[in-house]
Amino acid sequence: MLEALKAEVCEQNHELPANGLVVGSGGNVSGRDPETGLIVIKPSGVKFNKLTPDTMVVVDMEGTVVEGAMKPSVDTGIHLYIYKHRADVFGITHTHSPYASSFAARGARIPAVMTPITHMLGRDVPCSRYATPGDVDTGKAILKAAGDGWATLVKAHGVFTMGKSATQATSFAMYLEEAAMTTHLAQLHGPVDELPQEEIDRCYNWFTKNYGQSGQKQIKG
Ligand SMILES: [Zn+2]
Repeated sequence: MLEALKAEVCEQNHELPANGLVVGSGGNVSGRDPETGLIVIKPSGVKFNKLTPDTMVVVDMEGTVVEGAMKPSVDTGIHLYIYKHRADVFGITHTHSPYASSFAARGARIPAVMTPITHMLGRDVPCSRYATPGDVDTGKAILKAAGDGWATLVKAHGVFTMGKSATQATSFAMYLEEAAMTTHLAQLHGPVDELPQEEIDRCYNWFTKNYGQSGQKQIKG
């Protein structure tokens, strides 16, 4: 069942080590099927290079395994909490990527310094309060900090990004780590200006309308 979604979620899990966002088996990606409402998520404690679409676990919104031979990620409850409370979210990515997590270690947000990430998120990246890893309380902390946004750091833990698909959530996680690294390096040289929210809004609207291959094919002007 859900062959296309299992293939997508598996592929996006592979993107995490490929982009230096995780080590070992830490981190996970899930996706929600819009028709059935079922969730496809990485199995718990399995190294990324062992993941195939068939090893993905399908769970319902209560966390009951519907298909799959292995146990789902220990973070499944957190993913489900987010899906239950955010009808617009169809993919979630979790990493402990080091530069972003170094902000989380201090309970600090990633300021809106770099345009690649503000284009995508339309704002800075907030940091939530501390919550016990694996506990559903982490989901509550994430949504409180994120509001209707797509990304947050969790204090002393790592990164959670949400998207309209597993692919989009993972893309946000990659660009977020790049922004965290660049911002950290820039701050070593002294204070760095944040972009004004008005300009972030302008760029976010432009990017949302124009970037990628969907929509209008010819750029006029
Ligand atoms: Zn974690």
